[in-house]
Amino acid sequence: MTELARELLIWFEDNGRKNLPWQSSPPNIYHIWLSEVMLQQTQVVTVIGYFNAFIKAFPDMSALARAREDKVMALWAGLGYYSRARNLHKTAKIISSQYGGVFPKSHSEIVALPGIGPSTAGAILSLGSNLEASILDGNVKRVLARYHRVKGHYSKTTVVKELWRLARLHTPSEKNAVYTQAIMDIGATVCTPKNPNCSICPISRHCEAFINNEQLYFPEKKIKRPSKPEKNLVFLVYVNEKNEIFLAKRPSSGIWGGLWSFEECQDKSKIVSKAIKRHNRSATILRRLEKFKHTFSHYNLWITPIIIDSPGSSKNYFPTTSLTKGVPAPVKKIIQSL
Ligand code: SF4
Repeated sequence: MTELARELLIWFEDNGRKNLPWQSSPPNIYHIWLSEVMLQQTQVVTVIGYFNAFIKAFPDMSALARAREDKVMALWAGLGYYSRARNLHKTAKIISSQYGGVFPKSHSEIVALPGIGPSTAGAILSLGSNLEASILDGNVKRVLARYHRVKGHYSKTTVVKELWRLARLHTPSEKNAVYTQAIMDIGATVCTPKNPNCSICPISRHCEAFINNEQLYFPEKKIKRPSKPEKNLVFLVYVNEKNEIFLAKRPSSGIWGGLWSFEECQDKSKIVSKAIKRHNRSATILRRLEKFKHTFSHYNLWITPIIIDSPGSSKNYFPTTSLTKGVPAPVKKIIQSL
């Protein structure tokens, strides 16, 4: 047995939660399953009232299996994540019809039931039958991530794999049900998300996050990439009667420094008309092409190309077919689409 398991088992004797409404001796698997499903994404204090009402209306598996779905949904109303209630009902029907009303005893058969993941299946086996099974709910993830300073966010498969490995490593072959309840309880009552109470924690001696004073760095938060600023501009694509396009050399500093590009301006009709008249008084807009995004490392640029008929112009006009000038990628894209 690992040090963590031994310490948690001792701690549980005086400090574990033993009077939750779904705890009984001998354990009632139907109650354990209901509570485990209700506790997904929901706190114990919220679940207690719903659990008691549910048990009153559907005292056992066959009562739940026989129930009308709208009655099940009505008693679930307010708990959220309603697929949980629908799956609960489906599972009750399957267990009643295919397993004689008794939960199967193998992990693979339990996870095949609607709405039951590997951790809930582990809890059903462990808490319901004291079989050697591991769990990895939100509380357990947090405790293990801190105890072992597991780097990376849970959204990464490698992190979850590592946490499952650790969960199995610490799962004892004896007193499995007590250990499962104890590790859930320490996460819910001591190793809480924001203010872990390390001074009373029975596993602090070997907790790597505590030893390094990094409790709040674990579990690691998901890195939120700040969204890039967005800029908009129009490219004025002048085309003369020889089907040549106008390009101007950009200043050597700044974006696309030294490359050849279209004239550009803000996407405001007055500014656009002024710029066109300045370029060629006889020019007229032919059409606007669809806006597209060009990504820079520090911002996104939305470009709207405007194709303009520019009769009589020739200076800095180049044939599109044999263009030898260096042009930025979005300019090249527009030229190719012409
Ligand atoms: S010592 Fe602190 S961080 Fe470590 S498991 Fe205990 S409460 Fe959590």
